[in-house]
Amino acid sequence: MNHDIEIESYDEIDLFAKDKKCPICNSNLIQRFPLRHLSRHCNNECYKYDCYLKSNGYKEYAFSIFGFDFNISAEDELEGIHESIFLDIKKEIFYWKENDRYLAKIIIDS
Ligand SMILES: [Zn+2]
Repeated sequence: MNHDIEIESYDEIDLFAKDKKCPICNSNLIQRFPLRHLSRHCNNECYKYDCYLKSNGYKEYAFSIFGFDFNISAEDELEGIHESIFLDIKKEIFYWKENDRYLAKIIIDS
């Protein structure tokens, strides 16, 4: 199996992390590739993305913004429900970036 192609397909739904940078604080994301799984997270814990390749070939996605979780199953994607979840994620990212709220959050949490 071509590992690069596999990584690319894990990537396709991570719309929020342009150039693999945290969509909130813009730090470089840390990537790990456990078996059948891509995990990407921000060291400041703003953003976390996981893509799991299930044994039936479907993928599941988990996003987390400051510990608040958004999960997208293969069924959500097939039914088109994932679009509304993306919208919720965008709103959450916008909230934390607005007036640099994330900075206070990072300072309080550290
Ligand atoms: Zn971050």
